[in-house]
Amino acid sequence: MSPTPLNEFNVVTKDSSRVEILFGYCYPSTYRAGMTGLALHIFYATLNSRDDTSCERYFRYDTSSPSHSVESNRPLKDNHIVGFSLTYEEDIINLIQMLEHGNIPVVVKKRDKNDPIVIVGGPVVSANPEPFVNFIDAFVIGDGDLIVHDIVDAIKDSDSREEAMTRLSELSGLYVPTKPKSSVSRNIISDLNSLPYPTTQIIPDVPEGSHLESVFGRSFLLEVTRGCGHSCRFCLIGHICRPRRTRSLKRLKELINLGREDTPTSKVSMIGSSLGDLDGLEELVCWTVEQGLKVSVPSLRADSVTKSLLDCLVMSGQRTLTIAPESGSTRMRNLMGKGLDDTDIDNAVEVAKEAGYSSLKLYFIIGLPEETDEDVRATVDMITKIGKTSGLKVTASVNPFIPKAQTRWEREPQPPIAEIRRKIQIIEKGVKGTSRVTVETLDPRNARIQAALSLGDRSLGPVIRQASEYGGLGGWRRAEKETKIPLFSIANDAERLKGQLPWSFLSK
Ligand code: SF4
Repeated sequence: MSPTPLNEFNVVTKDSSRVEILFGYCYPSTYRAGMTGLALHIFYATLNSRDDTSCERYFRYDTSSPSHSVESNRPLKDNHIVGFSLTYEEDIINLIQMLEHGNIPVVVKKRDKNDPIVIVGGPVVSANPEPFVNFIDAFVIGDGDLIVHDIVDAIKDSDSREEAMTRLSELSGLYVPTKPKSSVSRNIISDLNSLPYPTTQIIPDVPEGSHLESVFGRSFLLEVTRGCGHSCRFCLIGHICRPRRTRSLKRLKELINLGREDTPTSKVSMIGSSLGDLDGLEELVCWTVEQGLKVSVPSLRADSVTKSLLDCLVMSGQRTLTIAPESGSTRMRNLMGKGLDDTDIDNAVEVAKEAGYSSLKLYFIIGLPEETDEDVRATVDMITKIGKTSGLKVTASVNPFIPKAQTRWEREPQPPIAEIRRKIQIIEKGVKGTSRVTVETLDPRNARIQAALSLGDRSLGPVIRQASEYGGLGGWRRAEKETKIPLFSIANDAERLKGQLPWSFLSK
């Protein structure tokens, strides 16, 4: 089957007979989602910078086949290494389906010397790889770009699959379940400035608004920071990517200049959590706009929003301000360690209005530990007040609390699905009739699956495998019934979470 004729800039295609290692970089979801992620661009550039390696891409959706590469139609199974980035827990289903389509045995113990070594990295497995050990040969814990060359060298220098697995298990930050160790460390790059950065990024040549275009549009991705200096109790990034690291202003400007030469785009999408904490964000954004480039920044903390920053962002074409109050209740924000008061949020909204923004996106969580109906009503009050007074279009994204491994709320149970639904209804009914306000929510059943996959252990293997046969929400229910593994109740089983945690062997 020939691949979809995707026209892309900056694609690398090597003669596979002239390299020693074939690497299949896989994103277990859509082309659009995969191309939006910085990891793809980092690994693609890093691996193809080696004369001995050819890296080609595979996606679950939007290309003609999940088992043939975009670049040269290379079968997935022909690779020596198949590497996945797992960003969302539920994508494990897509990952398994990609292996199956690619004719690679799904279960580790059925693989032999003719099969690629399957490696997975990303935040999900860095927090807790245990639910996935049946399917994955090795997990990257922490920053993968620190170790990618060591992985390739270990496999290239091995005479057998067994030797490769032993060598991988000896690397810092690599977890090989078949070679257990009492503790596995996490790789954290301390100096982002010294790290090579992909200034030549792949851009699909598609019309604006195409479903193949990155979420940020046609843009150069600029990683400004990694990790976060805050540590909100529920937040995975605030816990597993510590400490917060940042590139210097000088280096960031240098990268923008290189990026505009190497990547055909006139927009820079800045990547990083809580970017407003960066000394000099305003200078960086305004300088980028002065270079004639558009800029987008992700969600900002309300207490970091300033008029001059937003003025520059408006000049660069940004019209929606995204902030995450998390709760309308000051008590809840204090409990979760958010460190924002009502005035910070009011000021951010006011400044957005003055700067000429047309809309606001606000993120909230419901079902948090110790949350009462009064706290939920405080969220209703906050949304309606902002809707009525700001004059801006307001989208409130209200998501259920998902306890995550390695966070300070890792032992907190998720409320029952009915309780989450009830709280969502309080919000939906409460804001109904407020003009220009819409509410988006995540289905509590998906939140329940995500929490189970975040908190679970290796006993989940059979239910995951079975669910991958069926797909969809109904598939998870059916798999639970057939395997009798209580996936849907794991995240609110407070007793189970009192014992030793499955990820306790990962050093913090
Ligand atoms: S919620 Fe935002 S501010 Fe809090 S730790 Fe996470 S990324 Fe940082």
